[in-house]
Amino acid sequence: MKRVNPFRIASYVLSAHELKQLPKDEGIEVAIAGRSNAGKSSAINTFTDQKSLARTSKTPGRTQQIVIFELDEDRRIADLPGYGYAKVPVKLKAHWRKVMARYFETRKCLRGVVLVMDIRHPMKDFDRQMLDWCDQAGIPCHILLTKADKLKRGPAKSTLLKVRRELPASASIQIFSSSKKTGLDELIDKLSIWYEYEAKAG
Ligand code: GDP
Repeated sequence: MKRVNPFRIASYVLSAHELKQLPKDEGIEVAIAGRSNAGKSSAINTFTDQKSLARTSKTPGRTQQIVIFELDEDRRIADLPGYGYAKVPVKLKAHWRKVMARYFETRKCLRGVVLVMDIRHPMKDFDRQMLDWCDQAGIPCHILLTKADKLKRGPAKSTLLKVRRELPASASIQIFSSSKKTGLDELIDKLSIWYEYEAKAG
């Protein structure tokens, strides 16, 4: 039986340049991170089943803000800036590093992080930094190896196994494709647990 996707109702709330502009530190927030061009916006559009909720763009590094989407008054998605891209000026990168570090350290409502990586270019410095921050803050990280449609099954599986071996125990990982919707149910399952949808429904 096809289940209902609870993320379809996501809607844009605000874009924050600074942490103090974020909504109150209450309820449940799940952050989505990824290097520019990794496929993060496409992943958000895919699991919310909306064509253009998160802007997909071929211009890397365009968004340097935390974009908040709301599911309901207690549940939010935080789209983190993909500042890891080389073309972002060094000063801006340093600024965002600080803001991000503080976000991970202080944000009490942060329940989990979805880290999006292009399956052909996994575990770059940006990704390792995100994993470190999650680990230090005790926040689970779920990795999407996206654009899996760009690889054959064999190489996709071996990348999955290889990256999985490098992860801390608190992290999980799956194959994903926004184009083909591969792994969508698995992602929705993970998010539903973090957002406590299962418990409510049951
Ligand atoms: P972001 O910068 O991380 O938000 O990346 P985008 O979602 O804007 O995607 C960057 C580029 O990769 C765009 O041209 C997308 O169409 C493409 N893309 C994203 N996800 C997939 C996918 O699952 N499969 C394929 N083939 N292309 C993808």
